Amino acid sequence: MPNKTIQDAMNVQIKNELYSAYLYLSMSAYCESINLAGFAHWMRVQAQEEVGHAVKFYGFIHDRGGRVVLQAIDQPPVEFQSPLDVFEKTLEHEQKVTAMIHDLYTLAVQEKDYASQIFLQWFVTEQVEEENNASQIVETLEMIGDSRQALLMLDRELGRRATD
Ligand code: MG
Repeated sequence: MPNKTIQDAMNVQIKNELYSAYLYLSMSAYCESINLAGFAHWMRVQAQEEVGHAVKFYGFIHDRGGRVVLQAIDQPPVEFQSPLDVFEKTLEHEQKVTAMIHDLYTLAVQEKDYASQIFLQWFVTEQVEEENNASQIVETLEMIGDSRQALLMLDRELGRRATD
C-alpha cells in the first residue's frame, strides 16, 4: 500500500502537469493566431511532454497499488502580449513546477518513502532542463527585439523541435 499523504500529493501533481499541458496548448493556439507556426509547433510538443509527465505519476500510483483520483483543471490564459510574453510566462510557470516537485521530494524524505524519492529524481533533473530551455528562448527573444526577420528565423528553428 502506498503512503496516503504521498498518494494525495501525487494526485494533485497529476492535475498540475495536465494544467501545464493545457497552458502550453493555449500558448500554441495563441502562436497559431499570430501566424508563428514554428512557435505553435514547439508549444504543442511541450504540451504532449506535460501529458507524459502526468501519465508517469498516474503509472507510479498504480504500480504501488494506489488509487488515481483525477481533479478539475483550471482554464488557462487565452491572450498573450507577444512571443516574449509567452516564453517569460513559460519560464515563470516552470519555476513554479520546480518548487512543486521539490516540495514533493521533501515530503517523500519526511515520510521515509524511498521509492518515491527515486521516482521523483527524474523530475528534479527534468525541471533543470525545462527551466534551461525556456530561459534560453527568453534570452534569444530579448536579443531579437523588434526584428521581424530574426523572429521568423527563430520560428523556423522552433518548428524543427522533434516530437520524440
Ligand atoms: Mg512537467
